[in-house]
Amino acid sequence: MSEFLPFTRPYIDEATIAAVGDVLRSGWITSGPKVQAFEKALSEYFGGRPVRTFNSGTCTMEIALRIAGIGAGDEVITTPISWVATANVILEVGATPVFADIDPVTRNIDLDKVEAAITPKTRAIIPVDLSGLPVDRDHLYAIAAKHKLRVVEDAAQAIGSLWQGKRIGSFGDFVSFSFQANKNLTTTEGGCLVLNNEEEAGLAEKYRLQGVTRTGFDGMDVDILGGKFNMTDVAAVIGLNQLQQLNDITARRHALAKHYFNAFGADFEQLTGAQLPLANFENTNWHMFQLVLPQGTIRADFMQVMKEQHGIGCGVHYPPIHLFRMYRERGFKEGMFSVAESVGKRIVTLPLFPRMSEADVERVVSAVRKTLSI
Ligand SMILES: *Cc1c(COP(=O)(O)O)cnc(C)c1O
Repeated sequence: MSEFLPFTRPYIDEATIAAVGDVLRSGWITSGPKVQAFEKALSEYFGGRPVRTFNSGTCTMEIALRIAGIGAGDEVITTPISWVATANVILEVGATPVFADIDPVTRNIDLDKVEAAITPKTRAIIPVDLSGLPVDRDHLYAIAAKHKLRVVEDAAQAIGSLWQGKRIGSFGDFVSFSFQANKNLTTTEGGCLVLNNEEEAGLAEKYRLQGVTRTGFDGMDVDILGGKFNMTDVAAVIGLNQLQQLNDITARRHALAKHYFNAFGADFEQLTGAQLPLANFENTNWHMFQLVLPQGTIRADFMQVMKEQHGIGCGVHYPPIHLFRMYRERGFKEGMFSVAESVGKRIVTLPLFPRMSEADVERVVSAVRKTLSI
């Protein structure tokens, strides 16, 4: 059997490793000049909008909700198919999560169902760009404007993705990104929030560090309850280097995704009953290449054969959030979001990362064919 092929692997070059060494030797290792430089570079990347960095993507969404004043008694609509953080942050601020089912083709939240789920208590929508494929921003912001709702875009997976030629993050309301190890741009752990104005950015700074404001040489005050969410310079310097390589990373992911489609061939879906992702080469950054297995295929068995017989790691992104015990205890149950439940049971993430080869893609496709026995 060939060498184990994981579903993802971070892309870190020697220059980045050297830059981390420089920061560690510099005498300033937590938030400092590299964080400032990274925030400036991100702001330029996002068309000049204010950007602040944090130690996770999760906290950026929680802080965006706090800045919007969302809390107890408010409802926030989101998708059941995401990393559980997307819904957990709604609970974290004391608000009520409301799910809307997904579209089976994009696997993103179905915006018609979002509109149907709006009540007088709805204050915000958290859409997720699953695998980097953007939710329809025109439709999303039309709904938000019509119902006067805030939007916290969970663009954790969507750095480098586009909507009608514009970068995700360069327009819209709050836009949240994660720099966790598996993401297209990583700082090991981390995230950033794109904000609307300097006032929101100032609030974000307070929420990320204990609500502290400093003035002059020795002035300090605390007027809101903040947490401990700041990014370190060690992480920021990794991000600075990654950002310079992002276009190459995205281009490589596109090329590999294209190779997947070619290798699977036009008749793969018909022959197997499995579903390939939407073949989108205009908007998505190809954060993941996800297959929905045929009805009746047991995903765990599929993953076991892929791993043990073919040496290939697959991922699960994601089981439906509303069926986790903590959410069931809040009244959610099987049958409420049938598309999410059906997709959530059968979705698997195939290997896709910049240093994979075309031969690796062919190896995965051949293993998938054998495992589905065609
Ligand atoms: C990674 C991810 C998050 C959370 O980001 P962290 O940096 O791990 O906190 C949230 N939502 C989605 C869709 C993600 O992929």
